[in-house]
Amino acid sequence: MARKPQKSAKSAPVPTPANPGNGNGPIAVAEERPTSGGQKPPKQASAKLEAIPRVASVPPEPAGPPPQMEPMRTSKTEVIKRHDMWDQSLRQLDDVARLISLDPNIHSMLRHPKRTLEVSVPVRMDDGHVEVFQGYRVHHNQYRGPVKGGIRYHHEVSMEEVKALAMLMTWKCALMNIPYGGAKGGVVVDPRKLSEGENERLTRRFTSEIMIVIGPDKDIPAPDMGTNQQTMAWMMDTYATLLGHAVPQVVTGKPVSVGGSLGRIEATGRGVSYITAAIAKELNLNLKGLRIAVQGAGNVGSNAAKALHELGARVIAISDVAGGVYDESGIDPFKLFAGMGPKDTVQSQHPGKKISNEELLKLECDVLIPSALGGVITERNAGEIKAKVVVEAANGPTTPEADKILEERRIVVVPDILANAGGVTVSYFEWVQGLQYYFWELDEINTRLHKVMSKAFLQLWALARRERVSLRTAALMISVNRVAEAAKSLGLFP
Ligand code: NAD
Repeated sequence: MARKPQKSAKSAPVPTPANPGNGNGPIAVAEERPTSGGQKPPKQASAKLEAIPRVASVPPEPAGPPPQMEPMRTSKTEVIKRHDMWDQSLRQLDDVARLISLDPNIHSMLRHPKRTLEVSVPVRMDDGHVEVFQGYRVHHNQYRGPVKGGIRYHHEVSMEEVKALAMLMTWKCALMNIPYGGAKGGVVVDPRKLSEGENERLTRRFTSEIMIVIGPDKDIPAPDMGTNQQTMAWMMDTYATLLGHAVPQVVTGKPVSVGGSLGRIEATGRGVSYITAAIAKELNLNLKGLRIAVQGAGNVGSNAAKALHELGARVIAISDVAGGVYDESGIDPFKLFAGMGPKDTVQSQHPGKKISNEELLKLECDVLIPSALGGVITERNAGEIKAKVVVEAANGPTTPEADKILEERRIVVVPDILANAGGVTVSYFEWVQGLQYYFWELDEINTRLHKVMSKAFLQLWALARRERVSLRTAALMISVNRVAEAAKSLGLFP
């Protein structure tokens, strides 16, 4: 039975960290508060801020021509040019470096990826011909530990995008305070056009090509867009076969049957729900009946929708590459995804009103959760976003120009490096379990995940309020500061 539409949780505008409304001013957050009702309550955790200097005076940005931003179109969604992502990541780093008075030597080292590898991947296709695919693996930084990051199969993957995503991983791991640096990899391919055999041969050959840079103590890949548990099992098997012994810790996000962690598949989406619950609490938005629109129905989008539905929120719209569905009475994601085959779409599975991906972004809702591609919220559509909060489940869904517009419109943006960090956090748990050959119960994993994410959220919320900056700026201030601390401790070789 369809649930009756409920009234939206609270009226806009919500207080943002940068504009906290009444009762603002510096705050000291020392105690973690539980964030969700429906899931296991977390243990208390301290959320003390480390010494991040107060922002004194920020030198103005050097004047110059505005960066080129010619949007291009892919299928249904407008996305930014891939090479812009790297420029944007650098600009973001430069801005934060000014804010925290980052040592200029460390700043210039962080502006360069440690290592980039470009490989060609010849694959025999089912019809007998050989197709050569382009592949990449980038290590951005390893001051805080071995590098970690997903492998993406998408037809728009580029070196610039992979570099940007690797840098993002450095910040994400530092923000969650887990001992990794950032990496990313990808292959320029539309995986939907591959047969299973072609996909397996592509994965195995790609693994052998990047074998020189991956390993359980140096670089641990994981799934990302277009890849999944099966991809990780093939990667692990290829690595182990070429070395002649089992190395389950070389990848994370693999099936539980070969050393994967319970809860890893759902971890990113579950983390998104924890963070959505946490921000709703801070903004006095009632989680029960909170109206959610989710762009993307893959691993992250589907699991975020399920976890939020379990917490009592109402998913009013969801989409995939083929378009979306809208139903004000609420979409039950468990029903939607039950029995959904690889060729099915959300529109073929749900009778609700059909909408485009662009329409979904502009829906009247409380929380918008972009969970597909990067660069979907741009200066062109940011003025029409009606959500009170954007929780960035995808990597880099908001361009810096759009970010400014959303901030001016007092729409709170929870940055990707926090919102989708549940995946890398449980990947870290998987790696730790693998190194110990000792595996934890699901309850323990979810409780630890909640604890790590809540602590990170409260730290950055407190910093954002203290400095009157956006959550993204606060997150980057914490991350860059932690990486810089590590750099100082290590010194420079030789
Ligand atoms: P996925 O391949 O499982 O799903 C991607 C979804 O996006 C699919 O529903 C697909 O139909 C949809 N999509 C593809 N192109 C689209 C377009 N042009 N417009 C609208 N929808 C489109 O990928 P995923 O693992 O769910 O990853 C999604 C996002 O989350 C990516 O940005 C990824 O980098 C990020 N992320 C994933 C993880 C993880 O653990 N999987 C962790 C952190 C961040």
